[in-house]
Formats: sequence, structure tokens, C-alpha cells
Amino acid sequence: MSPPRPSQPAAGRSPGAAAKGPLTLRELDAIGVERLNGVGPQRRKALADVGVETVFDLLTYYPRRYVDRTAQAPVSEAAVGSEITVVADVHSVSSRRLRAGRRLVSVDVADATGVLSAVFFNQPWRERQLAEGRTVALFGKVENYRGRKQMTNPVVDVLSAAAGGDRTGKIVAIYPQSENAGIVTWDVANWVGEAQRRCEARGISDPVPDWLRDRLGLAGRARALAAIHEPPSMPDRWAARNRLVFDELLRVQLMLRSQRLAREAHELGIAHDPSGSLIEAFHRRLPYTLTGAQRNVMGDIDADLATLRPMHRLLQGDVGSGKTLVALHALLVAVQNDHQGALMAPTEVLAEQHYIALRALLDGFEVPDEARLGGTRPLRLCLLSGSSSAAQRREVLVEIADGTADIVVGTHALLEESVSFASLSVVVVDEQHRFGVSQRARLRESGRDDQRIPHLLVMTATPIPRTAAMTVYGDLDVSVLDELPPGRTPIATQWVQGPLAAESMWVEVRREIEAGRQAYVVCPLIAESESLDARSATQMHAELAAGALAGLRVGLLHGRLPPAAKEDTMTRFRTGDLDALVATTVIEVGIDVPNATVMVVLSADRFGIAQLHQLRGRVGRGSHASTCYFVSDEDPTPIAIERLSALAATNDGFELAERDLELRGEGTLFDERQSGRSDLKLASLARDLTWVQAARDAAAELIGTDGALDDHPGLADEIDWFASRRDPDYLQRS
Ligand code: ADP
Ligand code: MG
Repeated sequence: MSPPRPSQPAAGRSPGAAAKGPLTLRELDAIGVERLNGVGPQRRKALADVGVETVFDLLTYYPRRYVDRTAQAPVSEAAVGSEITVVADVHSVSSRRLRAGRRLVSVDVADATGVLSAVFFNQPWRERQLAEGRTVALFGKVENYRGRKQMTNPVVDVLSAAAGGDRTGKIVAIYPQSENAGIVTWDVANWVGEAQRRCEARGISDPVPDWLRDRLGLAGRARALAAIHEPPSMPDRWAARNRLVFDELLRVQLMLRSQRLAREAHELGIAHDPSGSLIEAFHRRLPYTLTGAQRNVMGDIDADLATLRPMHRLLQGDVGSGKTLVALHALLVAVQNDHQGALMAPTEVLAEQHYIALRALLDGFEVPDEARLGGTRPLRLCLLSGSSSAAQRREVLVEIADGTADIVVGTHALLEESVSFASLSVVVVDEQHRFGVSQRARLRESGRDDQRIPHLLVMTATPIPRTAAMTVYGDLDVSVLDELPPGRTPIATQWVQGPLAAESMWVEVRREIEAGRQAYVVCPLIAESESLDARSATQMHAELAAGALAGLRVGLLHGRLPPAAKEDTMTRFRTGDLDALVATTVIEVGIDVPNATVMVVLSADRFGIAQLHQLRGRVGRGSHASTCYFVSDEDPTPIAIERLSALAATNDGFELAERDLELRGEGTLFDERQSGRSDLKLASLARDLTWVQAARDAAAELIGTDGALDDHPGLADEIDWFASRRDPDYLQRS
């Protein structure tokens, strides 16, 4: 990939120079927080732990919410029955054990007018949080308990570590706190205030042109940065937020657009003829009619492959929407045109399964070959996985290099240096969320020695909401498979809480198996460790085989088994030789056994929405009704409750993706690209659709057609800084 075209910083604004103009973000990011009063080594480390190392970080360490002190009541005026905020000092805190092992923490707080108590059930850590002497804000409903004013489980913000440090102001910012590190909200407010004062002499630059600001009704940057921390009024706070949200989104869009334009200007691909005997035979021999969506997407892909501009397309399609056929179509266009295609999968199990599926679909296919008698030869499909034997591997590598191999299926092994294709022209990456950007780049590079870039199709079954796709994958074209093949049976989802409910679930599972169906049992996710997960699956397998599933044929599948054993187990399950398969999440993606109608996910509260949706997608693939059981603790965390309720409520991957985004925030979308310093601190991809669109349009206007920001040196410098900051070796690598 090519870098964005960073134009030179405007004269007098270059980072190190003794510039006298307003401070740029780059300059603010070059000033360490240790230069502020009261930030010694200990505070500095605590701030670094929450991602604040520079003045830029601090000014964009945004309040989590605000306490409107005009609506704050002195304790004496807190009326029983009302919902209010009080700001008071902690006088005493105590904790005691209730029946059934529950814990009660009681706190007395007081301001100059009176005393109020608060009680917390089952939140033992409150005792530490609400240490005596701290100033806190409590928000909740005032109750009367034996003649005293009391709040039960109020919302708590620790404002200050010491009592009495009362700040005035109408609307007070509450910062995300890191209590363990001893950072409380008024400390942050003080440092932010100091930083702002010290920026006053030079001011803060605003590289967004006036005409754009006027058109969008945006506040100036300096004003917005002040008002977000100390809003004179709530409308001011919203105006500030809008401006800063726009800044974040504009930076991302400018970067994506310049990357894309640079790529298009410099990369040369391979033009294909997307028709021919091989493609015709493939379509003729399909066992079913394509869905309309499959036909449309194949059309998009054909159009891309026909041009010299390398395809860069994301294919989104919910589980079971039939992405494999689309991939195969693209790979066959490569073969039809005398090139090679590669299909890369995230796990061994999935690569093997793709290989088996493709082998069945391609059985008996002939490739045009003038050197042969009869003018054709059998199509050659190869599997390259990390677990191939050395001899197999050597043989496959030779076939890849001399062009004998037409289509290669593999895992990350395809990315190794030793893999060199004769003429790779189409690369399909399945379940992309597990691949990084740099790996994508590496695969594209390994394909050819003539500097031409293979076409790339990235497929994901984790649907991404449109706004997120525009931002995270702004450099890709997007196609969507929004139609499931006919004949799918709906999946009933049940959330099973606690051991008693689980017992009756196992009875149901046995009944299904006795009726001739098959079941998956997914084991708890222990850690990000394959060996621990493998051990837990092995143990669960033994337990179930001796208990709930005794007498049935129960297989075991996990990542640590030798490849031959894995393949054998999968084959036995596929052919109905096993009744149940106890597995780790290796079965998460891609596995396709229509007779399997039961999915049991143990400790489902430990999984994320996307993963659970993937797992559920393993059933509902045949003509029999399917059931998915999500088994959780009796008492899951609030966030787990939200997730499981969402999954029980809908089967629609896109709806779930939106919900997931709301629950998680945006950070995780950016996977490896972000390293704790998030691109989007304020903008919400779930809520700020209009701003995403506005930023996208603005980027198109600002950046000419050649990818340069020549007319906007301030923005160019900012993007250049931003790109290097989000990924230090960004420029070197691309
Ligand atoms: P995905 O990878 O998108 O989750 P697959 O490509 O594995 O989905 O397809 C799921 C199942 O649907 C497979 O068994 C496949 O053979 C079948 N299938 C795909 N396209 C069609 C179609 N047009 N009509 C009927 N079945 C289809
Ligand atoms: Mg698939």
C-alpha cells in the first residue's frame, strides 16, 4: 500500500521549528504531560496507563459525562422520592456480610447541610472506592430508611481524593477514572485547565477551512476543545462535541481517501476475461440456482476483474449466505485466464474444509491447455497448511511456483516467504477479521514478480454496520450478500441459565440425537490460549461422554489435535458417524453439516456477540428445525445479559452487529491498527452516521483527484502526523 501523500507542512508550521503561529495538534502531541504542574513520575505513569502521554492526549481525554450542578441539591434539600445528584464528602464506610454470602457496603456522606447514606449490594469494591475523606458525586433516588435519607446502589463518581476541594461551575465534567492508579476526575480537570491556559498565548490552530466550517455550522477547534471540558451550557457542550467528532472522522476519511487514490494511481493489476468454458461449466454444474444476491456480487467481481485496476473488495455476508461459491467463481476466473487463485482461511480446520468443499465442486473440471493432447488438463487444486508434511509441502510449493497448481487453499502458511506463485491473479481471504492489514499486503506481494498486483476479495461473515464499514474499510469497495439461499430453517435460540435448566436441556439434546440429528457442544473459552482451551475441551468431552451424553458417539475437536485426527473427526461427524461433537471455537467459522441441528454453547456469557452469532450459524443449514442453546451462569454480568438478550431476540447478523457496536464502542473494530490510542474517542459509528457522511463528502472535496491536499497544508500536516502516530512504521512499511 502506498502512503497518503503527505505534503510538506506549511512554512512556519513544521514541528520542531520555533513557530509562532497557533499550536498544531502535532505540536501539542510533542509536549509531554510531565511538563504540567503536579505531574510527577507517579502521576505520569498513571496517566500513561489510561493512554495520556502528551498534551494532545490530555485535551482529547474527554469527559465521560457531566454533572449539571444547577440541578444539584444540598443534602438538606434532597427530597425523598426525587432523583438527584449530591456532591459530598465520605465520612464513613463499612461493609458487612448478609445471608447467602452477599455483601452490603454502607457509606455516609455529608456536605455542609446534612448527612445522607448510600448502600450497595454485592459491590464489595465500593468499600475501597469510597474511602473516607473523598469527595464524591452520587446520583440516585432518595429514599427514607428509618428516618434517614438513603440511596440504594446510586451512580458514583469520585471527584477528588481529598475532601473539600469543591470546584464551582455550572456543568462539571466527569472523567473516566482510574482509581487504582489514583487518578480522579478533579485532578484531570485541573491539568486540562492548566494545559488550556498555557496554550492561550499561541492559540490552537484550526486547519479546517472557514467555508467548510460555516457550511456545517461547526465551532472553531480551540473553542470546541475548551467547551467540551468546561461547557458554559449543555448546547455549548453539544456544539463542541459535534466539532470534535467531525475532526476525528475527517482525519480518518482524509487518510483513507488519500491512500485509496494513491493506490489507484500507482498500482497496476491484471485484466481478465470473466467468461469462458470453465466458468460456464461451473455454473452449469451447480447443484442449485444462485440467489439473486450471489449473482449480483459475482457481477461486481467480474467487472472488477476485467480491469487493470486491482480489485479491493470486501464481501459481507451473514453466515450461510453462500460466500464460498462467490469465492470459487472469482478463483475460476483467474484459472480461466491462465493465472492462479488463492483462498486463505484463518484456521487449519477451515482451510481443510474449504479444500474438501472445493474439491467436490471442482471434481472433473478441465482447464484449457494447448500443450496437451485434447487441449485440456484436469484442474489442479492444492492444500497448503501449516500441518502438511515436509514432503507434501515441498511438492505443493513446486506446483505453486511452476504454475501446475491452479487454485491453492491454505492458512497463514500461504504468507510465508517460501511461497512464491507463478502467476497469482486473484486472492480471496475468508473471515478477514482474523487477518491483519499487513498480512493482506504480504499476500498480495507474494503473487508475482512483474510488479502487478493481484485482485483481492476479502470475505467476512461478521457483518459490519454501514457506518463502520465506511470508516474502517473506507479503502475497500463493499458488496453485500443480503439474501440467504432458500430452504433454510429458522433457528430457535434458548438462553439456559444455571445447572437445573441445563439438565433439562441435555434431555432435549438426547431426544434430537435419538431422532437422527447431530449436535455441537462448544466448550468454555478459558483464555487466549489454545492449549488451555484444548485441555478444557478434553475434560468436558470426558464428562459428557460419561454423563449427559453417555452411550452416544461423541467426538472431540480442538486446535491441538494432530491434523489427521482433526480431519478424521470432522469427516466422521460430517458423514453421521458421530452423534455429537465437543469442540473449542475451532468450529466457529465455516463448518457446514446440514444434519447438525443442535448447538450448545457452554459459558456463553464469556463470548462476544459476533462469536456467538457465528457459532449459532453452524446449525439451521438443513431441512430440520434447529435449536441453539446458550448456557450461562445463573448470574451473568449486565453486559452479558445485554448480549444474550440481543442474540435471543434476533437472528439477523446486521441487527446484531449494530447492537454489538453500541455495546462495545468502536475501539475493537480497528483491531491491530490501533494500539490503545484510539482513532475515535468521541465519535460513535453507531450514532454519528450524518457526521460520517459529512466527513466523507468533505474529504472528497478537500483532496483533489490526485490524492494530494496541496491547498490545505494544515490538514496535510495533520494527516501526516495522524498516520505516523496511529502506526509508527506506517510510512516505512507502505
Ligand atoms: P458462508 O460461507 O457464506 O457462511 P457457505 O458458502 O458455506 O456460506 O454456504 C452455506 C451453504 O449453503 C452450503 O451448504 C452451500 O452449499 C449452500 N448454498 C450456497 N449457495 C446456495 C444456493 N444458491 N442455493 C442453495 N444452497 C446454497
Ligand atoms: Mg464460509
